[in-house]
Amino acid sequence: MTRIIAEVVLVLALIGAGFFGWTQHKSAGASSGQMAELETKAKEAQDKLSSKEEELSKAQEEAKELSEAVAPLKGKAQELDAVKMALSNGEILKDLDANYSKQKGLSTERQLGLAAVRLLTLGSKDPSTIDAFRKTLELTDWKSKSKTICAAQKALAAAGEKVTVLSECEGILVAKEAPAKAGADEHAKGGAKDAHAAPHWDYEGPMGPENWGKEFPTCAKGKSQSPLDIKGPFEKVKMAIATDYKNGPLKILNNGHTIQVNVEPGSKLRIDGMAFDLLQFHFHKPSEELIEGKPAAMVIHFVHKNAAGQLAVVGVLLKEGNENPGIKTLWAHLPAKEGPEVTPENVSFNPGNLLPREMDFYSYEGSLTTPPCTEKVKFFILKSQVNIARDQVGAFPFKKNARPVQPLNERVIQTN
Ligand SMILES: [Zn+2]
Repeated sequence: MTRIIAEVVLVLALIGAGFFGWTQHKSAGASSGQMAELETKAKEAQDKLSSKEEELSKAQEEAKELSEAVAPLKGKAQELDAVKMALSNGEILKDLDANYSKQKGLSTERQLGLAAVRLLTLGSKDPSTIDAFRKTLELTDWKSKSKTICAAQKALAAAGEKVTVLSECEGILVAKEAPAKAGADEHAKGGAKDAHAAPHWDYEGPMGPENWGKEFPTCAKGKSQSPLDIKGPFEKVKMAIATDYKNGPLKILNNGHTIQVNVEPGSKLRIDGMAFDLLQFHFHKPSEELIEGKPAAMVIHFVHKNAAGQLAVVGVLLKEGNENPGIKTLWAHLPAKEGPEVTPENVSFNPGNLLPREMDFYSYEGSLTTPPCTEKVKFFILKSQVNIARDQVGAFPFKKNARPVQPLNERVIQTN
């Protein structure tokens, strides 16, 4: 069932890509004429789909009569009937909207799929359908997508649609089944083959932490992974850490996985006198580290690097309490949607404002807590927690972005 829906959406998405590739290529710059043309095309596609649906219901009737001989066809027809039902009452669109609204920044493919489902559910005249296609157009890098566009155009041409096949498409041969299959493969690999999309990972679903290892082996095979559940017995060590963080211009971004603040050179962490430069800090909700099995509301990870390239992370746990003035400043400028770094004018920030007074810590050798989960990262989780208001936790634009705790294996957690 899910696969069938995915196929229908992919085919529609490809049709959408075809239209846009075609109109885009035909004349540079959008015009109302183009929009009208799109609407006509969309209407045609919808009509075509309706006739397909009729065919399907006929097939379903036949399947009933022919029973066993056409059992697979019957099953398929029923599945498609269910798809049609779900689309007509808006269930799939609702699900898709709910699911996608949680994601910060949709991939081109998903935006295209969403546009296609809108087209099917609401019709081609609905403003949100047109808007969804327009967003797709903005997102699409047409040069890199030319193969997809060519595939869609050839498929449409083969289906008897009046489509101008781009001259660039001449050399590309497309088999009848190719468009949907290419789309499905691309999705299965999470767009990893797309030079414009970074390998995809997430905090839930098929790309969630339990599957990171498929694309990033260290995440599954590493023996000193972070985060940890911090509990005794601890090893007492004589080691001291001290920070010297400086005021600087606020540079903040939403990278799709967290809110990150990039720091200009000059802010230092010293571990027994050895200097590490603060590169950036970012947030997880709830805290990735557990203290005796319990998470804090959030955690800030301050990421440092020394001249030899070694990484050290200082973790500051945030507990629910009074408003945090430092976070108030940050949240006032945080980008709600995924995108490049922003530097609001005349806002300076000192990361030291987010630290507790006491620097006592738990320490262990760990890893990056996001793919590729690179190891040999020194972790210092501060024992003193810092307040954050419940509203401020709620205003963080990610519902949950914490990797589950990892096995301790041979490690011993140290404390000063
Ligand atoms: Zn982190």
